[in-house]
Amino acid sequence: MLKLYLVIPCYNENAVIDETTKRLNEKLNGLIRSKAVSPASRVVYIDDGSTDGTWEKIESISATNGLFEGVKLSRNYGHQNALLAGLHYAADHADAVISMDADLQDDIDAIDKMIAEYQKGCEVVYGVRSKRKKDSFFKRFTAQGFYKLLRFMGVEIVFNHADYRLLSNRAVKELLGFKEVNLFLRGIVPMLGFKSAKVYYERGERFAGESKYPLKKMLFFALQGITSLSVKPIRLITIMGLLCFLVSMVLLIVFIAQYFMGITVSGWASMITSIWGLGGLQLLGIGIIGEYIGKIYLETKKRPRFIIEKTTGETTEASMCKSVDKSSVDQSEDSQLF
Ligand code: UDP
Ligand code: MG
Repeated sequence: MLKLYLVIPCYNENAVIDETTKRLNEKLNGLIRSKAVSPASRVVYIDDGSTDGTWEKIESISATNGLFEGVKLSRNYGHQNALLAGLHYAADHADAVISMDADLQDDIDAIDKMIAEYQKGCEVVYGVRSKRKKDSFFKRFTAQGFYKLLRFMGVEIVFNHADYRLLSNRAVKELLGFKEVNLFLRGIVPMLGFKSAKVYYERGERFAGESKYPLKKMLFFALQGITSLSVKPIRLITIMGLLCFLVSMVLLIVFIAQYFMGITVSGWASMITSIWGLGGLQLLGIGIIGEYIGKIYLETKKRPRFIIEKTTGETTEASMCKSVDKSSVDQSEDSQLF
């Protein structure tokens, strides 16, 4: 039976953790009762260096309820890293992992639909918000701007999908093969490929506590997303350089034409042309150097260059990963290195 792990990063979530625990406890018990998931399924809270007593609560919850487990990070590493820590933790135990926020803004009833898609053979199931009615105008505006900006910058992401998703054990293991430090999970998950599906749900409001993503953090997050996945900003510099240089060439032609027509201001033509010409060449030069730096940057990430989904042989990659035999798992990890 499906061993499901719910991974939940918590940063200063003292105000919501009790209610969240109550709701998830009901949900998971319901799923176990209806035999949708195995009784060995768990909720894992990842404490991301909270300073408001969240960890103490997690400890007492896991002491009284066997369905809950806790992992404490040594300090605040940020949402994405906390999530990754949770995936690492769950990779050894779970058949499938669902990540979600501690404030349960994401409808937990979508879990059933996610499981159904998993059972149909999907390795990745994205939770996608159908509407954003309940977000404030500001949040909606900034969040949608964020997706559009990322798209423009060449980052392929699923529109209106945050970090509410199901990953199969196989997908988690392949994801852990992406060793980059600048982590932007929602940009990397689509890179995995595999059969995937989307599940739509309505996002509610945070029932207590405050958002841990104020505007400053969101802008930083957007920047992180762009710079960790795309070298398009560098390309924009190259294009700008090229454009400036073209402008200087056009100006030169105009000035020469004006010279023959007798319209001249002494010194002006040569100055303007060289400002645009040199400026353009400099930008172009920076852009070209940038292209190489961009390449080096992507190389240093040592991302897997391919992921095999299936082979026609008897032992498919999938059955290797699903088997609990440790040696076969090690082998599949080794093969990613080359
Ligand atoms: N979070 C975290 N570390 C951080 C910031 C946030 O683990 O440094 C967690 C937080 O506890 C929550 C999730 O990330 O579970 C999303 O945060 P929040 O709900 O505040 O974001 P919003 O929904 O407002 O975008
Ligand atoms: Mg939230």
